[in-house]
Amino acid sequence: MRILLVSDVHANLAALDAVVKDAGAFERIWCLGDMVGYGPQPNECIRRLREFDLVSLAGNHDLAVTGKVGLWDFTPDARDAIFWTRHWLNTDHLDWLASLPTAAVAATPEITLVHASPRDPAWEYIVTREIAKDNLEFTKTPFCLNGHTHQPVIFRKPWDGLKVLEERLPVNTPIPFAPHDLMFINPGSVGQPRDEDPRAAYAIVDLDEMTITHRRAQYDVSLTQKLMKQAKLPDRLIRRLRFGQ
Ligand code: ZN
Repeated sequence: MRILLVSDVHANLAALDAVVKDAGAFERIWCLGDMVGYGPQPNECIRRLREFDLVSLAGNHDLAVTGKVGLWDFTPDARDAIFWTRHWLNTDHLDWLASLPTAAVAATPEITLVHASPRDPAWEYIVTREIAKDNLEFTKTPFCLNGHTHQPVIFRKPWDGLKVLEERLPVNTPIPFAPHDLMFINPGSVGQPRDEDPRAAYAIVDLDEMTITHRRAQYDVSLTQKLMKQAKLPDRLIRRLRFGQ
């Protein structure tokens, strides 16, 4: 089975559409949360994702929009975007977001999906080998797919090693889910990449081959920026899309 893995779409429909097109044929979407927040088209993005066979989790922005977490941990720009999203999201979509799992989900016997980290599913950023190592005891499967940092990366504990290693997640290169290794893999963000590559980031998971392939899709950044301007979303959020920061 070929699965489209997306995370942190952040209401950027142009980026999501480019990813769906670029991905080719797939049978299911795994979405690691943060479908809304920051971007200008939250209803459209939720509608598009729900057209597919979809497994989705709630991210911290989704939880904030539905009132399940407070806003004090968000930056002022993120908070403004959350208020805007709350105002415009229709009730059906709000109810759907509120119904999504907030903790890690085992999608297969080998692969767990989580928004942030197994230890703290909504908030913790897996950005260091130390944090990845600490999270190993909280996972029940060898492989964990996570989002939240908007940075594509692999943290791996090789079966014959004691240390957790940080690896680049190369583009267009199938990475095997190596038997006996333990891995955290982040596909990056569809709607607001932060690794200085403005293209939408995502991955294809092939469950027959047991591989994951990181990919990037070019999209019309200026279209999303125009819609954000019309919506009067914060300037800094508009500018950063151009640079992938
Ligand atoms: Zn996010």
